[in-house]
Order: sequence, then structure tokens, then C-alpha cells
Amino acid sequence: MVERGATFRPGEIVPASGIYECDSGCGHQHESTDVKGHRFPPLPADCKGGRWVLEQATHHR
Ligand SMILES: [Zn+2]
Repeated sequence: MVERGATFRPGEIVPASGIYECDSGCGHQHESTDVKGHRFPPLPADCKGGRWVLEQATHHR
């Protein structure tokens, strides 16, 4: 289980579906719905952060 607040670099394998935010607080978001074999995208060019932070994991039942 991936915990809220976990951080990942662009290019790392996405471990869980959910909403990710950049770590600099400028508000960029990335939502992953199908994570099979997916990797994190680069942060936007105008982003000051360096990582994606798990904000809200999607829970499947
Ligand atoms: Zn940003």
C-alpha cells in the first residue's frame, strides 16, 4: 500500500492510481487511473518542484 505523502521522481514506475501533486506547492496535478506499466511524466516546464507527491490514492474494492 502506498501512503499519502509518498514522493516519486519523473520516470519512476507509478505504484498506485490516485492524484499526485508536485512537491513545490505550485498546484500542478497528475491523475493516474490505469497505472499498469506507467511511469510518472516530467513535471511541467514552469514547475519549481522535482517530484510527484501522492495526494489521494484511489481505493479499489
Ligand atoms: Zn508545480
